[in-house]
Amino acid sequence: MKIATTIEEVRAQVRAWHKQGLTVGLVPTMGYLHEGHASLIKTSAARCDRTVVSVFVNPTQFGPGEDLESYPRDFERDCAVCEKMGADLVFHPAVTEMYPGGQTATYVEILDDMPKQLCGKTRPIHFRGVCTVVSKLFNIVQPERAFFGEKDAQQLAIVRRMVRDLSYGIEIVGCPIVRELDGLAKSSRNTYLSPEERKAALCLSQAVRLGKKMVLEGERDARVVLNAMRNLIAHEPLARIDYVEAVDGETMAPTDELYDNVLVAMAVYIGSTRLIDNFSVKLQEG
Ligand code: AMP
Repeated sequence: MKIATTIEEVRAQVRAWHKQGLTVGLVPTMGYLHEGHASLIKTSAARCDRTVVSVFVNPTQFGPGEDLESYPRDFERDCAVCEKMGADLVFHPAVTEMYPGGQTATYVEILDDMPKQLCGKTRPIHFRGVCTVVSKLFNIVQPERAFFGEKDAQQLAIVRRMVRDLSYGIEIVGCPIVRELDGLAKSSRNTYLSPEERKAALCLSQAVRLGKKMVLEGERDARVVLNAMRNLIAHEPLARIDYVEAVDGETMAPTDELYDNVLVAMAVYIGSTRLIDNFSVKLQEG
């Protein structure tokens, strides 16, 4: 497995692979890899001839007062995970390599309401930063496929939209949420939680389980399901709801009706740590 820190090194390697007729998969990450990331890398390695993992804490997707500086980092361990899961190249650029002079004047931004829903309400510049960095990574790596987790369901929908709107010709593959044994969705930010908060954080996956069960039992009114989920979370003293909402899985438009592929998503503060979780309505299971 190779490690590259410059755009030029990545381009040269991918050019050589493409010359040999090999397909390339890209897994964009911010590092501090866990089993969620590992499942994406493994899926890419199974579906593509070569896999590139990017490890880059992207400053343009963090707002003022967010955790850019304190975001956990452990590049040595990340490399071990990448190698074990079958990655061929890890791209670990400095901020100045991705943003010359540490800045960019050019952004990729979806201009309808999609990035303003859910996480966009409290993180207004987040998805502009995500689209910009993902777009740059697509231009640098030029993969045939790119792999994203369903844990960040709004991000996945936005990337699919960007790829369609800008004719990227890259297949976007969504991968299921990987959870701890007790249900908590794996996240690099789980490391911020104290032991007491770690227990409290279970209210997110419990709310997901409750919502899924209600849909499975035939409830189709989103307001009823969302209220039950909110009530469950409200019983946890360390939890503060940012949002618990139902939106169309493709457009992110709010909906009161639970039809196939509606996304039921939440963001909840546990102490000062903001965690997200979600499920997609699958009526055929019910
Ligand atoms: P991040 O490093 O948090 O930016 O995440 C990089 C990629 O890993 C994104 O596509 C995430 O959706 C995905 N990911 C993060 N956590 C999980 C998880 N628990 N299960 C599946 N995918 C995940």
